[in-house]
Amino acid sequence: MALHGFSVTFREQLLERLRSERFDVLVIGGGITGAGIALDAVSRGLKVALVERDDFASGTSSRSTKLIHGGLRYLKQLEFGLVKEVGSERAVVHNLAPHLVIPEKMLLPLSEGKSLGYLITSLGLKLYDWLANVKKADQRRMLTRPQTLRYEPLLKKDFIKGGAIYAEYRTDDARLTLEVMKKAFQLGALCVNYVAARDFLYEDKHIAGARVIDELTGEELDLQATAVVNATGPWVDDLRTADGSLSGKHLHLTKGVHIVVPRERLPVQQAIYFDVNDGRMIFAIPRGRVSYIGTTDTNYQGDKDHVVATVEDAEYLIRAVNDTFPSVHLSLDDIESSWAGLRPLIHEEGKSASELSRKDEIFESSSGLISIAGGKLTGYRKMAERVVDLVVDRYFAEHVLRECFTHRIRLAGHTFSGYQDVVKYREEVARQLSDVGLDARTAEYLVANYGQQTNLILRNFLQQDAALDKDLALILSELWFCFHHEMIVTLVDFFLRRTGLLNFDIMRVERWKAEVTEELARYSGWSAERKTAEINALDALISEARIGNRQGQTASR
Ligand SMILES: Cc1cc2nc3c(=O)[nH]c(=O)nc-3n(C[C@H](O)[C@H](O)[C@H](O)COP(=O)(O)OP(=O)(O)OC[C@H]3O[C@@H](n4cnc5c(N)ncnc54)[C@H](O)[C@@H]3O)c2cc1C
Repeated sequence: MALHGFSVTFREQLLERLRSERFDVLVIGGGITGAGIALDAVSRGLKVALVERDDFASGTSSRSTKLIHGGLRYLKQLEFGLVKEVGSERAVVHNLAPHLVIPEKMLLPLSEGKSLGYLITSLGLKLYDWLANVKKADQRRMLTRPQTLRYEPLLKKDFIKGGAIYAEYRTDDARLTLEVMKKAFQLGALCVNYVAARDFLYEDKHIAGARVIDELTGEELDLQATAVVNATGPWVDDLRTADGSLSGKHLHLTKGVHIVVPRERLPVQQAIYFDVNDGRMIFAIPRGRVSYIGTTDTNYQGDKDHVVATVEDAEYLIRAVNDTFPSVHLSLDDIESSWAGLRPLIHEEGKSASELSRKDEIFESSSGLISIAGGKLTGYRKMAERVVDLVVDRYFAEHVLRECFTHRIRLAGHTFSGYQDVVKYREEVARQLSDVGLDARTAEYLVANYGQQTNLILRNFLQQDAALDKDLALILSELWFCFHHEMIVTLVDFFLRRTGLLNFDIMRVERWKAEVTEELARYSGWSAERKTAEINALDALISEARIGNRQGQTASR
């Protein structure tokens, strides 16, 4: 289950290979789209390199609502094809990583004057289940008013006229991206973070690779490839511009913000998808010791590298919660953490942010650059299949390559035969942890994050100094695992994208950041200056995430 070589320790060897070898496909961008393409291409037999200019999943793929969902609201926009594809993908992605893509029943309250009618909702959800081929036990169930209020007693009672329960899945977007990336690497794709594409290389006006820069040393290298895929999400048009091919359709970025509050401040009993006064819908999702709320959807023209969650964004979400759950009285001071991300959508003249389609689209330039934009986390596998089909068609039609079979490539080395196995494994981990005084929530967190890779973490944990605080020993074991098997380069990589702690357990970050920094500095051989820079970068993110501490200012990530 351990993945050899996916560690910064091997960075020099990986860069040397990037420098000296020729690749069938170069993928630029290490979000879920790039990771999916790398896995699909390498598993079919192509020689693949992937470069990510920051950390894997540092773009939109760590800033989503973290749902593997069919997109119920796209039914309203009559996007049946999209709902069918992403809806069907939910069960597929769940089977690929059942510990990480976890079934989550969603409550849809229907309220007077805001929601669609009971009958239309009932028919809509039936269609949703049918399009996505949802198995009988998981199909939607309509609820009466008293039933809805029993499911969620916090709801504003006066206006509720009924509700529905339907099936979705929740995940951790950054970890899903990372597990897809790790699998691609394991099958032979050369995936490296902190390497940015600066320019393209051409032979006879046809794209033939890219000039990239090692962001850690500033060294430039030329990377030769037959096909080049631009999977840079919100930055797709920047690379199309560098290729001189930005014409016709272009990106339209919209910003989405999430806020995180302690569970006791919004003790919803389960995930809930509710109407807002302006006609939009937002989620409130309980997760471990917190609940998170999102999202906004506003046009964005600002700095893509510095996405800002304003106090105004947070106030919009708080107002929506307080209108729907009147006894809660959330305020900015309740916000523990937050994040903001950009949707890389395709522009359509005259449409508002919320009306824009979430469908993906592929652009092929006259130089041969293949760019992909739009889409959803949930549909990453099918997007990758379409891109790789095109690459094969253009360049490798004469070769004997396998058809796409990523629906059968399990992630995170799991051997679970179904979700029941995950539950049993989680109970077993909880038993082991309770022997050393750690609670069941820790087991839930470990298994959701790492699946059966938790065994490696626990093995390391048992070898730690018995005198250490147990929670510290555990986080150091997570660090050991992520350093040796998950290509962390910075402190933020660990605290934000490998563990999700900066989003969902910021207290744990504050509690152990000094000790974790020391240990990572020891592994990485950091100088005193580098250590200070790493701590400063982490502290900046912590204070930015806490919108409530900075009323009248802005938060950025
Ligand atoms: C607020 C919000 C909520 C969402 N919620 C959901 C949800 O619940 N479920 C769902 O299915 N979808 C959701 N989505 C959509 C989903 O998150 C995105 O479709 C998906 O993450 C996009 O992934 P990507 O890989 O295309 O882009 P990104 O994740 O942004 O990856 C692009 C990568 O390219 C890198 N890059 C840029 N330029 C270069 C360069 N020159 N060289 C090398 N690398 C470069 C960037 O650093 C970045 O990491 C949500 C989106 C938003 C914004």
